Amino acid sequence: MAAKSQPNVPKAKSVDSVTNDRTASQGQWGRAWEVDWFSLGSIIFLLLCAPFIVYYFIMACDQYSCALTGPVVDIATGRARLSDIWAKTPPITRKAAQLYTLWVTFQVLLYTSLPDFCHKFLPGYVGGIQEGAVTPAGVVNKYQINGLQAWLLTHLLWFANAHLLSWFSPTIIFDNWIPLLWCANILGYAVSTFAMVKGYFFPTSARDCKFTGNFFYNYMMGVEFNPRIGKWFDFKLFFNGRPGIVAWTLINLSFAAKQRELHGHVTNAMVLVNVLQAIYVIDFFWNETWYLKTIDICHDHFGWYLGWGDCVWLPYLYTLQGLYLVYHPVQLSTPRAVGVLLLGLVGYYIFRVANHQKDLFRRTDGRCLIWGKKPKVIECSYTSADGQRHHSKLLVSGFWGVARHFNYVGDLMGSLAYCLACGGGHLLPYFYIIYMAILLTHRCLRDEHRCASKYGRDWERYTAAVPYRLLPGIF
Ligand code: NDP
Repeated sequence: MAAKSQPNVPKAKSVDSVTNDRTASQGQWGRAWEVDWFSLGSIIFLLLCAPFIVYYFIMACDQYSCALTGPVVDIATGRARLSDIWAKTPPITRKAAQLYTLWVTFQVLLYTSLPDFCHKFLPGYVGGIQEGAVTPAGVVNKYQINGLQAWLLTHLLWFANAHLLSWFSPTIIFDNWIPLLWCANILGYAVSTFAMVKGYFFPTSARDCKFTGNFFYNYMMGVEFNPRIGKWFDFKLFFNGRPGIVAWTLINLSFAAKQRELHGHVTNAMVLVNVLQAIYVIDFFWNETWYLKTIDICHDHFGWYLGWGDCVWLPYLYTLQGLYLVYHPVQLSTPRAVGVLLLGLVGYYIFRVANHQKDLFRRTDGRCLIWGKKPKVIECSYTSADGQRHHSKLLVSGFWGVARHFNYVGDLMGSLAYCLACGGGHLLPYFYIIYMAILLTHRCLRDEHRCASKYGRDWERYTAAVPYRLLPGIF
């Protein structure tokens, strides 16, 4: 499918853009301008099927004790009809709608009305007002980084309720899980549709909008780069972090509470899933400033992929292990539990150190030590849509010299650990590692395509110096 309108096509080049411009395209290194048939097909498939995939997983747990083949076998053998399954599915309720509205409103208030105070007393934590990366149009946005504070206050309230206040049962999330799914879908679709309309009629930064000429692609991948309301309400930062990621640890806690209620105790597998995923979540908020430099914020536009994905896909599918353990209270042998813990911690270590190395390198402009030595560097340059020439550096030392995306390998090891904690009884909890492997491999290819068009020959020099993407000698 050919691209049509390019309202913000870059203008004239500046003089010093000559060196690298045969392969690097000026200011076009953001999201794709053109939609091929494969991308279009995948997008239509996801728009049509993703909500049903989420429903299928959650329904399979609710009605078939997490047996993924259960519904298919029942329908194929005539034991159940689709209408029977649907009739047993809890509908949206007033209680769920009130809960969800309260939850999102609370997170909006924490995000917009409470400037960060954590950076004032937590040594090493970087919060408060921070700058994002240069956008393709050459804009640098400012962000209010207060996610750690939001996470801490929310969890403080959760524990205060569980141990002192008793306003609601800690199983409240599990008990309303399917009715809440409908609410999350309503918000996901509403925010994606609003973002699309906003992109067309009142964008925050028109120069950073992209219109491919294909409605489905624009809806899915977004038109606006950094949609905002007012000075501080940034859609991408808000929807990715809260309500999605703040909710992640609360959802797991609610599943643990339900496991205790149903089975009388919390298993070591449930503890492992809660602890390992909490490390990942706290890491995310501790490093929220770093997150401003990741692909989600630096390169992806805000559409259904991020809007609906953050509201529905992330809280419902990233928490499948905890949900599964409510129905199957797996208790691991000590050696196996230790093995899972070690895999999760080593994965986290690689993930964190690799991301930290790049962040440190970029923040200090290469004036740092990586693995105790002065880092090896590839000097590179690119041009933003306003014709400005920018200089940057690619790190060739540390994990970035082992493979071009070794940070993803750490993430995959951690993801596998969550799944292994659930034992081998069912496929459902393994969905996460399968999904992450596809997501991160696709992300790797997508990012490399973008970096190649951003840095041109300089990127080729990097791929020659570090030939493998994920695993040395394999891929
Ligand atoms: P990266 O943090 O790997 O960022 C890629 C960008 O880094 C590139 O676009 C380029 O940007 C820059 N870069 C690439 N190579 C180098 C280098 N050698 N030296 C310096 N800069 C380089 O990707 P993500 O944002 O995708 O991932 C961040 C983390 O988040 C990862 O650990 C990933 O596993 C995790 N993640 C988790 C997800 C989940 O759902 N759980 C989803 C997605 C990511 P530039 O234009 O600035 O040069």
